[in-house]
Amino acid sequence: MRGTMKLAILGIGCGALLACAGSSFAREPGGQCWSAEALAGRPGEKAIHRSTYDPAIEPAGEDVALPPLPAGQRGSIRGVRLPKGERLVALTFDLCSNANEISGYEGGIVDTLRGAGVKATFFPSGKWLLDHKERAGQLIADPLFEVGSHSWTHRNFRLLPPQDAGADLALDLKADAAIRRALNAKACYRPATAQEHTALFRFPFGTCNAGTLAAVNDAGLLAIQWDVVSGDPSKAISAEAIRQGVVSHVKPGSIVVMHANGRGVHTAEALPLVIADLRKHGFEFATVSELLSKGEPVIADSCYELKPGDNARYDKLFPLERDHAGPHGGIAN
Ligand SMILES: [Zn+2]
Repeated sequence: MRGTMKLAILGIGCGALLACAGSSFAREPGGQCWSAEALAGRPGEKAIHRSTYDPAIEPAGEDVALPPLPAGQRGSIRGVRLPKGERLVALTFDLCSNANEISGYEGGIVDTLRGAGVKATFFPSGKWLLDHKERAGQLIADPLFEVGSHSWTHRNFRLLPPQDAGADLALDLKADAAIRRALNAKACYRPATAQEHTALFRFPFGTCNAGTLAAVNDAGLLAIQWDVVSGDPSKAISAEAIRQGVVSHVKPGSIVVMHANGRGVHTAEALPLVIADLRKHGFEFATVSELLSKGEPVIADSCYELKPGDNARYDKLFPLERDHAGPHGGIAN
């Protein structure tokens, strides 16, 4: 109560977008770099703009060298087997960006998560991080959130030769490390623990081959897929349909895939419904790493939507040569 009054006096306030009942990030040590206003979403940020790829954006410096993952952590992680009675679920949001676009930031989604105190995990492409440095820093700094990676420029890793995947991951990890370095160097930012690099990776389109899956694990990254698809890039799927589809498929240990880069058509509208309904069913929210720490990962040796082979059509929709021909659309993740 005292904190609320103090904020009101300072004129910061806790509006509809940043309720005091949820995250108090703006008042916490890591959040002192930003006021509540600076954290809140702004109109127009959701828009995705075409742009010409400029190689000058590629981060320089030494590669980030992480130890390869051991057996038991290798493969495509689809969810987590939890001890009986644990009802945790991980909401995840991809922030895809291909080479020829400046992808969006959907602040309403982040504001809803903060307002409701809901933990979540974001998977930004490396280029997205560099196109949205301030927003990227805010997400990484927020103790409610975990930030993984989604490749450098969202190429189809099922078609990508493993050596090209390695080069892509090198750029991606350098971008991630650069954002974290800049954040940790800020005088206003005093994190309890400063993570220097991400530990999680999500395949663009959710596609991989044996070589690129190994390349991700060899780069020291857990490959995080999902077991619940929101379908939110589809205009045909309403907010109510997203709520119904997600809530009817979530089970303890589930990982749900959604979008917060402007490609989720009704995601912002659906999210409060999804959160309320899952809470009504006794679920609590965890980041992916927290979820993994509570049980045993469910691991597959290939990457798929809901059953092996069901995303083969993406290879025609998203061939490698399309990468520099325009933004990807469609319903892929
Ligand atoms: Zn994506």
